[in-house]
Parts: sequence; C-alpha cells; structure tokens
Amino acid sequence: MSHRIVVVGAGYAGLLATKRLARKLRRGDVTITLVNASDRFVERVRLHQFAAGQPWSAASLRRQLSGTPVQLVVARVTEIDPTGRRVCLDVAPGAIGYDTLVYAAGSRARLDEVPGAAEHAYAVADLEQATRLRHRVAEIASGGTVAVVGGGLTGLETAAELAESCPGLRVRLFTGADDVGSGLAPRARTHLRRALDRLDVSVHPRSVVAAVREDGLDIRGGASFAADAVVWTTGFRAPELAREAGFATDGSGRMLVDATLRSLSHPEVYAVGDAAAGVSVTGAPSRMSCQAALPMGRGVADVVAARLTGREPGPVRIGYAFTNISLGRRDGVVQFTRADDRPRGFALTGRAAAVFKEAVVRSTIRSEAG
Ligand SMILES: Cc1cc2nc3c(=O)[nH]c(=O)nc-3n(C[C@H](O)[C@H](O)[C@H](O)COP(=O)(O)OP(=O)(O)OC[C@H]3O[C@@H](n4cnc5c(N)ncnc54)[C@H](O)[C@@H]3O)c2cc1C
Repeated sequence: MSHRIVVVGAGYAGLLATKRLARKLRRGDVTITLVNASDRFVERVRLHQFAAGQPWSAASLRRQLSGTPVQLVVARVTEIDPTGRRVCLDVAPGAIGYDTLVYAAGSRARLDEVPGAAEHAYAVADLEQATRLRHRVAEIASGGTVAVVGGGLTGLETAAELAESCPGLRVRLFTGADDVGSGLAPRARTHLRRALDRLDVSVHPRSVVAAVREDGLDIRGGASFAADAVVWTTGFRAPELAREAGFATDGSGRMLVDATLRSLSHPEVYAVGDAAAGVSVTGAPSRMSCQAALPMGRGVADVVAARLTGREPGPVRIGYAFTNISLGRRDGVVQFTRADDRPRGFALTGRAAAVFKEAVVRSTIRSEAG
C-alpha cells in the first residue's frame, strides 16, 4: 500500500508543502490528500484591505492543484486521532487515515483575552471575520468611529487601511505600549508616526483595553470610548486541534517541533506555519508570519521526501529579512532586519515601501508554485 500523507490546511505553508511533496515524490509510492475548510486559497495578508472595502479575489485551490495527483478534500477537521492515525471531518467521508500528517492549520484572533471581545469585537484574522467587519464598516455612517485594538503589525495596517479607504470614519488605535513601532529603527518609526498623523489615525498609547462593549471599549484604569466597531488585533493563537489531540504544544496552541519540523511528541506528525512553534535561526520560536510559513512549507516537503526515500534531512532554516508594513495603498515602511529579526539601520519608506510590499505579496503567491 502506498504511504498516505495528509496535509491539514491550504494556507501559505500547507499549500506550498503539498505542491512540493507532489513534485518530489513518485505517484504510486504515496497518496497526498490536502484537507482545507474552503476550496479557495485565502491571501490572509490582504484581509485588512478586504475589510476596508477593497476588491477581493481568492484563487481556486482546484486550479492551483491541477496537474498534480493531490486529492483536495474540502472539509473542516474537527479532531485529530493520533492513536488511530486519522483526521475526523465535519462532512463525508467522516475521517481520513494518515501515515504522515502535516499540520498547517494556521491561526486565529485572540478574542478570548478580555470580557466582551468574543461577543462584540471584529477581527481580520480570517475571511469570515474580515467579511463581518467589511459589512459593518459599510453600514457605519460618516462621522462614525472604528477602534482598532493592538499596535502590532496587523493593528497598524488595519488602522491605516480603514483610514485611507473610509475617510469619513474616525479611526482610533489603542495600544498598551508606550508608542507604536517599537521594533523599528528610529527613521522607520518616525515615518510610521507621520503617516498615521497624515491619515488622521488617533493613537492612544499606554491604553490597555479591559473590556469590549457593543458600543465601545473600556480602558484599564477607568476611561471609556464609544465606537461603532471595535477591531481586535492583539495577536494570533493556533487552533485547539493539536492541543486537544495530545500533541506537545506551547501556550499559544502551536505544535512544538524539532529543527526538521517534526512533532516533539509524535514522530509521524509535522507542523508548519502559524500552527507550529518552529525554531528560528536564533533558537527562538518562529514568528507567526509568511516569512516563517514559506520556508517551513518548503522545508517540510524536503524533510518528509528525504525520510520517505531513506535519507536523513538537515534542519530547516527559518530566518527573517525585513518587517513589511503597509500604510494604506500608497505608503508603507519596510524595516530591513537581521536574520534574527532585529532591525538594521536601513529602511524604505513612503511609496517605495508600498511598491516593495506589493511586490513581496505578489511573489508570495508565485512561490506557492513550489
Ligand atoms: C490582516 C493580516 C495581515 C498580515 N500581514 C502579514 C505580512 O505583511 N507579512 C507576513 O509575513 N505575515 C502577515 N500576516 C500573517 C500571515 O498571514 C500568516 O502568518 C500566514 O497566513 C500563516 O500561514 P499558514 O499557512 O500557517 O496559515 P493560514 O494562511 O492561516 O492557512 C491556514 C489554512 O488552514 C485552514 N484550516 C484551519 N483550520 C482548519 C480545519 N480545522 N480544517 C480544515 N482547514 C483548516 C484555513 O482555512 C486556512 O486555509 C498577516 C495576517 C493578517 C491576518
């Protein structure tokens, strides 16, 4: 019987891994099944643009996989059974068995951090949430307010995009930090502040949000702000599937893996992308980003193909080159970094950064060719 490889999740990491596995391994020796919740490839890095009302298209996974022997199963994995070596699905055939599992289920918004966020907050972490926000933004009358919570990359990009695409809205950005852009070198940070001023985004530093209400939010210490929508962008968390299955995971639900992306608890299982706590070049856990997801997707295919053909693979290298922040469609900041993610002195700003980021996003899609 041929060796059964099942990949869960067709995002940046899972789709790349699947296509590369299909290229590297011989039909007949393996069967490769890709399970994904939808039949589309969602460009997550554009979801803030979509939420702000910009045009949207999502590539067909069937088209992406045409000409390969990969079987696409459009279903949600509800459970992983490591003893029976199968993934359980919410639709027929109900379950699929594996000999090797590649777990690439991505991540979601951390909506459980404060009271009221799960009920009332919006998010941009997945297509469903971004769609809800898009509809809400379209409903809010001119002069209304959107509060973005979180001064990280997703919060900055979302606030800037909303401010540029919906000039009638007032956009407030709340961060618990002393300022925005603390990971950037001074020139990039100054540009970021100027761009937010130009877009009329009000930044509220040292403002830890304690609760979200239907009509606004409360800050720790007593202040409250009214808002027509609160967007929660304080970071991502991996799905519960891996932890519930008994795989070794970290506090964010990411699967703990060795340098070859193999589960520390279950050697027939690998994890990639946001759902994996990969080991980056410094030895620190990988950052949830495409910059980590893509080498992991490529790397896991090389590792699995090597082991199935009797070779012992080397470690997968996860390093960084830049932090890429769009500030609307015509502005941005590209902070070049060392491989360990620390900023270098050199940054691109303004239109050059926007053009650079767009080129990177497009090349990310091209790299899905494997
Ligand atoms: C608005 C926004 C902007 C971003 N900008 C950047 C950026 O500029 N640069 C950068 O490097 N990163 C950025 N990121 C982060 C980046 O999008 C993620 O790091 C990246 O998507 C991770 O890829 P992945 O393959 O691990 O997961 P994903 O791309 O999330 O793919 C996971 C896939 O698994 C599927 N799935 C999940 N659970 C199940 C299940 N139970 N059953 C079946 N299928 C399932 C999902 O439907 C999805 O198709 C951004 C994220 C957001 C939300």
